[in-house]
Amino acid sequence: MTPTEILTLHHLRKTPTRLAIVQYLQTSPLPQSENELHQKMQASYDRITVYRTIQTLMETGVIHRITVDSTTVRYALNHCTVQLHEHDNNHVHFYCTNCGKLECLKGVSIQPYQLPEGYRKEECHVVIKGLCKQCSIKSQTENA
Ligand SMILES: [Zn+2]
Ligand SMILES: [Zn+2]
Ligand SMILES: [Zn+2]
Repeated sequence: MTPTEILTLHHLRKTPTRLAIVQYLQTSPLPQSENELHQKMQASYDRITVYRTIQTLMETGVIHRITVDSTTVRYALNHCTVQLHEHDNNHVHFYCTNCGKLECLKGVSIQPYQLPEGYRKEECHVVIKGLCKQCSIKSQTENA
């Protein structure tokens, strides 16, 4: 889907900032931080507009936020199609403590937790920390 089609699907007006952020996230293999998004769009967009746009895209389910800790917050696209809006984000995220890479592990689902009676789930985020494949291979050869 093109950025225009994605905004249409979520009933959003097609502002230049929205289009630019969606397009940039489409070409990024990894989730991006607000700073990275802002830098990528350079001086043509002010920080407040970028911040507000990210909020709007999140509220409407175009993107999702991944919070590793108070300093590491990144955003990734939801992969919506006309048939399927995947806003549940039931996939696990992986954060590499060595190189700082954060990934959406789309193939790894969050387990359905059985909550105590009377508890109501609103959202559930799972971030696994450890070594990514490259770093894990590297640490093995270094230790050998
Ligand atoms: Zn959607
Ligand atoms: Zn790594
Ligand atoms: Zn994700």
